Amino acid sequence: DPLDWPTADLVTHRVGATPERTAMVDADTGESWTYRDLDRAVDAAAGELDRRTDRSDATVATLLPTRPAVGVLLFAAMRCGATLAPLNVELDAAALRGQVAAVDADLLVCEASTRALAEKVATCPVVSADGDLSVRPGGAGDDFESAVTPAELTRDRTQLVLFTSGTTSEPKGVRLTVGNLVASAVASAFRLGVTPGDRWLVCLPTYHMGGLAPFVRSALYGSAVVVQRSFDAAATRRALADHGVTGVSLVPTMLSRLLDAGWEPADALRFVLLGGGPASEDLVGRCQDRGVPVCPTYGMTETASQIATARPETAFEHRGTVGQPLVFTEVTVVADGEPCDPGERGEIAVDGPTVTPGYLDGDGDAFGEFGFRTGDLGYRDADGRLWVAGRVDDRIVTGGENVAGSTVADAIRAARGVEDAAVVGLPDEEWGQRVAALVVGEVTPEAVRAHCVDALASYEVPKTVRVADSLPRTPSGTVDREAVRSRLSGDGSDAERSG
Ligand code: ATP
Ligand code: MG
Repeated sequence: DPLDWPTADLVTHRVGATPERTAMVDADTGESWTYRDLDRAVDAAAGELDRRTDRSDATVATLLPTRPAVGVLLFAAMRCGATLAPLNVELDAAALRGQVAAVDADLLVCEASTRALAEKVATCPVVSADGDLSVRPGGAGDDFESAVTPAELTRDRTQLVLFTSGTTSEPKGVRLTVGNLVASAVASAFRLGVTPGDRWLVCLPTYHMGGLAPFVRSALYGSAVVVQRSFDAAATRRALADHGVTGVSLVPTMLSRLLDAGWEPADALRFVLLGGGPASEDLVGRCQDRGVPVCPTYGMTETASQIATARPETAFEHRGTVGQPLVFTEVTVVADGEPCDPGERGEIAVDGPTVTPGYLDGDGDAFGEFGFRTGDLGYRDADGRLWVAGRVDDRIVTGGENVAGSTVADAIRAARGVEDAAVVGLPDEEWGQRVAALVVGEVTPEAVRAHCVDALASYEVPKTVRVADSLPRTPSGTVDREAVRSRLSGDGSDAERSG
């Protein structure tokens, strides 16, 4: 089958073409790998993975923060026929134990900083990426000889197991195939273009798709990944400038912190890929004023990252859109089982080569007539651009009226003194559900309600308002809606409730 590409792991393909080009840079240590260095590190790591696991289709889990080692391990797994399962280092031991079991790990790779946690949760051997594996440039030595018989790479082989962020319920283990990853990288190139000098900064966690996708793209394109261990407005600004970065993936809070810190992009910067949550019109407007080439994108773990991405000119002209779906990706907005007309809201369904073959624990009703059901609401405009309007479970039905929690939260955020807000529906005997808001800021529940009475329809005004120091978040940084619900439904005092 001529379409059954690629035939070897991406670094094998790449090292033949451009061995001297830079593949990876560690922004924190200054180390850098050419494609030849990367090829050797991948080979040495693949040999170790092979030696330490006895199944031919082994699963290698990692407990690593954002590190170049994760990129090496991804291609090493590809080379020796293993599946890589990067686990979230922010999770607690109980959750990690469950995930180690769910992925059926044969080996767990940690580093010094995660060793203790790894020993606690592993039911398989534990090895260290900074000791047992030679992932560093030159680590494999000059007299290096390959020790691995490369595995045959087929499009449908599960290459990655990644857990979702756990915003709506427990994180789900998503299987992603070689074909999913390559299709995503190819489609991204059609939207954003590729130049050989591209350098993509990764400062997002490498146990989520946003932090992993750049490694796949770079190896395919022959460009470089600059890895920064964590986001920090000042340090990230420096890394962007010092490494001649041409592209970076950020979530909205990171971008607004960069802008708050006075950041102005260098001429080299081609794109800021902005995803993981809604990019407000305000944030896109600030980017336009500051000359930031922002590309709002909509994506998820189950689609190996981007579903739709707007280039800067589209983002500025139509603030709030995530643009057209990527090539090969089909997006259908569905309401009552039927595709919607332009402008009509419904659930977003996605079909195409980037869509997961399924979850580890069964698919429930995740797949329907129009493909994968995202659980997100949105609409297409007359030109086909996609607009995302929150999650399906964000819809609150109160007294027979439909309320979008995100609309209410947006209105509350505009009130004086409010820093952030989360809005959910709580079970209510009289109304079916009642609108409830958890608010952060120097503000009283009465003032929030008064503002809402002015700004919203009467049935949208939250009946329960509580002020808190912070919003509960998942380890991935998204608002933990279950926890918001339980904080709001817990013993609500009369001072905080009214209506
Ligand atoms: P879980 O599936 O466990 O509830 P999650 O959906 O947050 O967690 P991810 O796969 O990391 O896990 O995130 C994908 C989700 O992020 C999307 O389904 C969508 O709700 C949200 N999202 C991503 N990009 C955007 C965007 N541009 N605008 C609005 N929401 C977005
Ligand atoms: Mg999800």
